[in-house]
This record gives sequence, structure tokens and C-alpha cells, in this order.
Amino acid sequence: MLNPVTDGAGDSMIYTAKLVSSKRITPEASREEVRQMVFKTNDPYFDSRVGSCIRVLAPGQYGNPYHTRLYSIADTDQSDAGAQFEICVRRCFYMDDASGEEYGGVASNYLCNMQPGSDIKFSGPVGYPFVVPKNMDANLLMIGMGTGIAPFRGLIRMIYEQYGGWKGKVRLFHGARTGLEMLYLNDANNDLGNYFDQPTFKAFQAVSPRPAFNAPIALNQAIEQNAAEVWEIVNSPDSRVYVAGMTQMLGMIDNAMTGIVGSEAWMTKRNELATEGRWLEVLY
Ligand code: FAD
Repeated sequence: MLNPVTDGAGDSMIYTAKLVSSKRITPEASREEVRQMVFKTNDPYFDSRVGSCIRVLAPGQYGNPYHTRLYSIADTDQSDAGAQFEICVRRCFYMDDASGEEYGGVASNYLCNMQPGSDIKFSGPVGYPFVVPKNMDANLLMIGMGTGIAPFRGLIRMIYEQYGGWKGKVRLFHGARTGLEMLYLNDANNDLGNYFDQPTFKAFQAVSPRPAFNAPIALNQAIEQNAAEVWEIVNSPDSRVYVAGMTQMLGMIDNAMTGIVGSEAWMTKRNELATEGRWLEVLY
């Protein structure tokens, strides 16, 4: 769910970017394939910012020139000569009810099959970037599920490496179906772990209690267990709430917070944060 104010803004120019690298970041043993893909564009007009999305123009089917899909920018390095940016792509499959056959999602498979050195066409940026407040005492709450965790690595890197000395609390709640699918937290990709020694940073994980039965990820429980701190953060001056991942997350967050403070207090607070531009979400 993108904010209508910016959805489509800056979306008319078509850019080209070269794939620099593509790495699987879910373990081979996991059913999920998620790839971390780094692209470079030499177009100085493309404004790449963590949290906003690019619209990838994959080759179309059935006479359509393009099949377009959105991917959120997970990390970026922008200069006058263009931008290097990262997206995380989950390879999607779907079952055709009529034939019972499994088909690959068009854009995700196109991207996951690309070799370094080849080019994509894309437009954007689309949606709000995850802007960091100027006040380094501000508390930041990040909630992400599945590939929704991707922009938070870039955001956390920005906070601790570019800004440095962040004094406010940074709390990350992230979920996946199983520990194996927990992006960035397995041994090979322990890059969030780089920030665990920062006194202001804490991360909380949630998994599904019964992944084989598709039971929902217990994100609400993780939030409920830290209710007092979450409520303190959302009520503190200049705080920001960043939410990224599946649309169902919003219901989980609302349920958890309603259970803690009641629905009226929570909806008033969420609306207030949204009106003040302090609630930033990329939901899909
Ligand atoms: P498609 O070919 O479009 O198929 C997608 C789904 O459509 C299938 O899974 C299936 O449910 C259904 N479907 C299509 N055709 C059929 C059919 N014939 N029969 C039955 N079912 C069918 N994804 C990421 O991996 N990373 C991101 O960072 C990311 N960010 C996003 C940000 C936003 C704001 C949004 C809206 C989406 C984001 N997505 C992201 C999702 C992404 O845009 C695509 O939707 C996803 O990759 C699937 O696209 P696809 O072309 O591979 O699949």
C-alpha cells in the first residue's frame, strides 16, 4: 500500500541499470529463495532512497511490452554520477487452478535468473523514502516481515555509519516463517549482527509457531512482549515508525497495540503519527 501522494510521482522516466551482483541470502535448505541484487545506474536523475521503490519493467507476455512490478530499495549509494542500489527479491511461484501446474511469477523469476552484467529497465522512485529525523535523540521503531526486512538493513547502516552516535532507541521487530528464512540473521549474512554492540540497538525476532501448517508469524506476540517500550517509543517526541512487508502485518500490529492500549488510543496515535509524517510504510 503506497501513499497516494507519491505513488507514481517521478514514475514517468525510464532508466537503465546494470546488475553488479546477485546473491542468494536464504540458506540452500530453505524453500524460499531470496536474492540480494545490487544494480548500478549511471543516470544522475534517478533519486534512489531507502524505503522508496523502483518499478521494474520485466519483458511482458501475451503481446504486452512490459510486466511491471515494484521492489523496495534496500540500500543505496547515491553520487553525482548515478546510484548503486540494492533490492531483495523473493522468487515467486503460483499454482494454476485450472491446470494444477506451477508457474513462476514473471518479474521475480526474470530478476532472480539475471546474470551480472545484464541490464534492467525501471522507473521510479515510487512511494515515500524512509527518512531519518534530524534529532539523534529520536526513538525509531522498525517492523518488517519477509523481504520487508530489506530496507531496514540500509536504514540501520545509515543511522549508525553515516550519522553515527545515535542516542535514541532503535528497535527492530522482524519476522519470517522459520528461522531458516530469517534474512540477514544466518551465519553467512550476519550483517545486522554488526550493529548488536550498539548500545541503542535491539532486534526482536518472530517466527511461525507451526510453519508446516502455514500458521501466521507471531509478530503480534513479539510486539506484545515488549508492549511498554513500544508504547513509550511511539509517544516520544520526533519518534518514527517504519513498517515494511506483507499487508497483513498492519492487522497484526493493530491487534497487538489494541490489546495493549485499547483500539481508540491506538488508532488515534497511529493517525496522529501518519498525519505528522512519522508513520512510514511500504506494504504489499
Ligand atoms: P506475477 O507473475 O505477477 O504473479 C504474482 C502472483 O499473482 C502469483 O504469486 C499468483 O498469486 C498470482 N498469479 C499471477 N498469474 C496467475 C495465474 N495465471 N493463475 C493464478 N495466479 C496467478 N517483492 C519482493 O520480492 N521484494 C520487494 O522488496 C518488494 N517490494 C514491493 C513493494 C511494493 C510497494 C509492492 C506493491 C510490492 C513489492 N514486492 C516486492 C512484490 C513484487 O512487486 C511482485 O508482486 C512479486 O515479485 C511478484 O511478481 P511476479 O511478476 O514475479 O509475479
